[in-house]
Parts: sequence; C-alpha cells; structure tokens
Amino acid sequence: MLTTYQSLISRVNSQNAAQYLPSTYGAANIRGFEAQRRVLMASYASTKNGVVEIPFSGGGGTSLVHEKPLSRGTVLINTSDRFADPTVDYNTSINPVDNEIFVAMIKFYRRWMQAPSMQQLGPQEQSPGSGVTSDQQLISYATQGMISSTAHSCGTSAMMPQDQAGVVSPELLVYGVTGLSVGDISIIPLIPATHTCATVYAIAEKWWSWHYYSLHPHIDDDFEVDYYFVKNNDHDNKIYNIFGGSPSPD
Ligand SMILES: Cc1cc2nc3c(=O)[nH]c(=O)nc-3n(C[C@H](O)[C@H](O)[C@H](O)COP(=O)(O)OP(=O)(O)OC[C@H]3O[C@@H](n4cnc5c(N)ncnc54)[C@H](O)[C@@H]3O)c2cc1C
Repeated sequence: MLTTYQSLISRVNSQNAAQYLPSTYGAANIRGFEAQRRVLMASYASTKNGVVEIPFSGGGGTSLVHEKPLSRGTVLINTSDRFADPTVDYNTSINPVDNEIFVAMIKFYRRWMQAPSMQQLGPQEQSPGSGVTSDQQLISYATQGMISSTAHSCGTSAMMPQDQAGVVSPELLVYGVTGLSVGDISIIPLIPATHTCATVYAIAEKWWSWHYYSLHPHIDDDFEVDYYFVKNNDHDNKIYNIFGGSPSPD
C-alpha cells in the first residue's frame, strides 16, 4: 500500500517514544510502549501481516481501519465522583504516523476504485470528494470523521510484564492481587489484525480451563468430567462433553 514503508519505519524508530504518549504515562508505560513498538514495526515490515483493514461489501460505503496504530490513550478513574464512569481519552491520531497511514489508505482506496474491475461497477466518490486531494486536507477529513477503536478497544489490562505496565500475567492473574484474574478483551495488548470476538472466545476458554474449577470446587459430576478433559489437555473431548456429544474416538 505504501512504497515508502521502510522510511516510515525508520522515522517511527527514531521517534522519542514519550513524545506522543499521554503525560500520565510513567517509565513502565513508556517501556511497555517501546516493546509494543518493536512488535508493531516488525509487523509493518512484513508483507504477510495485516496493518489496515478495508471491509468491502456491495453496500454504499466502507470504512478504512488502521489495525496497528501507534497512538495511545488513557482510561482514568473519575476523581471527583467514584461512582461515575471512568474518563476515557482515546488520543486517536496523536502520533502523526497514524495520520500518514490514514492518508495512504485513502489514496490506496481511490486507486483501487479506479481499477477496471471496480470501474465496471460505476463507483462514485461521495466523501471526502474528489476535490480533497492534499495530504493535509485528507488528514483533516480523516481526523474529523473517524470512530476511535472501531469497537475493538483493548489493552486496558494488558498481558505484559509488570515492569512494562502490564496488568495480568500469562496465566491471566492480576499482578499483586491474590485471587483476581481477568479473561476478556482488555488483556490483549495490541489489537489483532482481525475482529476481536473469536480472540475473546479463545481467551475465555483459556481462563475457564485455568481458573474456573479453582473458584468452583464443589461443581457437579458433569463438570468433573469436563475438568478431567481439561486437566489432561484434551480440549477437543472437553468441548464435545460440554455440548452433550460423545468424545472423539481417538
Ligand atoms: C458495535 C460493535 C460491533 C462489533 N462487531 C464485531 C464483529 O462483527 N465481529 C467481531 O469479531 N467482533 C465485533 N465486535 C467486538 C466484540 O464484540 C468485542 O471485542 C467482544 O464482545 C469483547 O468481549 P468481552 O467479553 O471482553 O466484553 P463484552 O462483550 O463487552 O462483555 C462484557 C460484559 O460485562 C457486562 N458488564 C459490564 N459491567 C458489568 C458489571 N458492573 N457487572 C456485571 N456485568 C457487567 C456487560 O453487560 C457485558 O455483557 C464488535 C463490538 C461492537 C461494540
């Protein structure tokens, strides 16, 4: 999509990581972001990884989705009212490289619509409109119209090392709190290049196999059988058992 992606990666690597991070980030958060940035740049450099998503259907519009942004936000407790919702600030596009990627996406999308195979469908650009062409105009259009996170918000209880501001261990246990575990989307440190439901199912399945029985030791006999399969790492048979089927022959 972007022929200059190598120079973009160099520019990201030479950024002072703290420059575009929220002022509330401490040293551990910055270390964590630097670790994430290394993973992200490997992803940007690979032709096999998805960095952007352009969902396409026969409908009248589409969305352009940046799956691997560098901008980082905050979720803070509302200090004036402890019963109020937390204060969420996505900080979308605070890192200018994210804007470059949006511009590249819009330009790519326009090129795609010019392809003979698409032209036979007669596409007409309604928004932002063919008069909007400069990078600055496209950035302005993108930042004013975007939906933060595309409903895939994650990372607020990231599974990362504690000294990188991680919240849960690889066993989904919250650092420093006995008996507290998390098994939902918040543990994903970086948005996967996919929609997130299936990934959350996998996390929930892992959480169940590791922690449910320890929280419910007096569960009924059927569960004992399920747990037997889990303990023996026999996930296929466990799933058969949950849904009332027979264990597979092998
Ligand atoms: C509009 C939208 C469209 C999406 N479309 C897709 C899609 O097409 N494909 C896809 O793969 N992913 C999609 N996603 C993403 C996917 O739905 C989420 O990533 C996923 O549901 C996250 O799962 P979760 O269990 O972490 O959180 P949730 O599914 O949000 O579950 C959290 C649950 O906790 C409950 N809860 C909250 N507070 C409390 C409380 N205090 N006490 C008790 N319960 C509480 C909530 O009611 C909710 O049931 C979409 C998300 C949105 C918002």
